[in-house]
Amino acid sequence: MSAELYLTDQHRAIQEMVRNFAEKEIRPIAAELDEHSTYPEELYRKMASLGIAGVTVPEELGGMGADVMTYAIIMEELSRGYASVADQFGLVELIGTLMTQHGTKAQQDRYLRPLLKAERRCAYALTEAEAGSDLAGLKTTAEKQPDGSWVLNGGKLWIHNAPVADFACVLTRTDKAAGHRGMSIFVVDRDMPGYSVGKKEKKMGQRASQVGALHFDNVRLPPDALLGPEGRGFHIMMSVLDKGRVGIGALALGILQAALDASIAYAKQRRQFGKPIAAFQAIQWMIADMAKDAHASRLMIHAAAAKLGAGEKASLECSMAKCFAADAAMTHTVNAVQVHGGSGYIKGIEVERLMRDAKITQIYEGTNQIQRMIMARQLLGEAAQG
Ligand SMILES: Cc1cc2nc3c(=O)[nH]c(=O)nc-3n(C[C@H](O)[C@H](O)[C@H](O)COP(=O)(O)OP(=O)(O)OC[C@H]3O[C@@H](n4cnc5c(N)ncnc54)[C@H](O)[C@@H]3O)c2cc1C
Repeated sequence: MSAELYLTDQHRAIQEMVRNFAEKEIRPIAAELDEHSTYPEELYRKMASLGIAGVTVPEELGGMGADVMTYAIIMEELSRGYASVADQFGLVELIGTLMTQHGTKAQQDRYLRPLLKAERRCAYALTEAEAGSDLAGLKTTAEKQPDGSWVLNGGKLWIHNAPVADFACVLTRTDKAAGHRGMSIFVVDRDMPGYSVGKKEKKMGQRASQVGALHFDNVRLPPDALLGPEGRGFHIMMSVLDKGRVGIGALALGILQAALDASIAYAKQRRQFGKPIAAFQAIQWMIADMAKDAHASRLMIHAAAAKLGAGEKASLECSMAKCFAADAAMTHTVNAVQVHGGSGYIKGIEVERLMRDAKITQIYEGTNQIQRMIMARQLLGEAAQG
């Protein structure tokens, strides 16, 4: 992969540093983390000591104080090592952004600073049994009490980090009559009475990411557990999605790049009919298409990151980049298994894991169908509503 000419020297230095770290510290342990579905606590502490957590969080709050492009670059490189590690990094960035933009000083001291040092673990809890793509179905409620405190009841599903998180940012309904304007976000500590964690899910891929349910049974929250203004939860949550999509696009690209690297190496080394399989056009074309779509994904992700970083509205570009990179990662990891023949189907061979790791990128951070809906609305305006 050639360095893109538009990247600054600082971007390239960080890219090289994270690539080396991923190659030395992440990729060698990825198969084992996948096999045992392990949360790599020590690795996350090492990553925090590199000073890259909270890429766009200002330095005075403990972050890196860098731009969205840097975030995209780091996500791709981490994911090239192992997507679950990038997924964790992206979650920290998302909560870091929320806390930077909407947290009080007390919340930033209590949650954000320890999060960026990997001393506390977070979760971002939106999804429920009847509220997936359509959050209008949200049933978790927080009811305001006469003394200003809140009582939280409900449950969340498939929440990344739920089994290990010390605190969760939870989207709730605070006004049943007010639709999207009736939602608010609360920061809820794991040790609060009434907070409980459901079983850890067994997943197809990205198996080092711990995913599970959260239950809230009359959890009494102090007034200062509210993150941002009451009734603005949905809008706050939406405001971080564009950056989240750049991140997941870059994560998908990291998987695709790893599949391409592995396919090139295997095609040169594996011989059949007296030649390396790289000499067969069928293999060449799969590899050429992988490289073409990795390049296109990278350009789309970087263009979206640049626009977002410049403070411009970039929802269309962010949705396009996430959707394109995720679809490309899925298509080409399947082809990478094909390039590897029977060995690609065997556990322990990298492309077998990459194919499983790619699938979720088409589902989380808004499914690719939802991304296409967003694009269509931007392109067609009200006509898209029928
Ligand atoms: C591994 C994993 C990690 C996750 N992490 C988190 C997390 O940390 N926090 C969190 O809150 N959630 C998390 N989720 C949940 C994830 O965000 C949802 O699964 C996702 O938003 C889709 O919701 P759903 O599964 O209910 O699917 P549904 O919304 O029920 O969709 C089912 C299918 O219908 C399609 N569909 C739905 N509506 C439309 C429409 N209008 N037009 C066309 N097609 C449509 C979808 O694209 C999909 O193909 C995670 C899920 C998984 C599996």
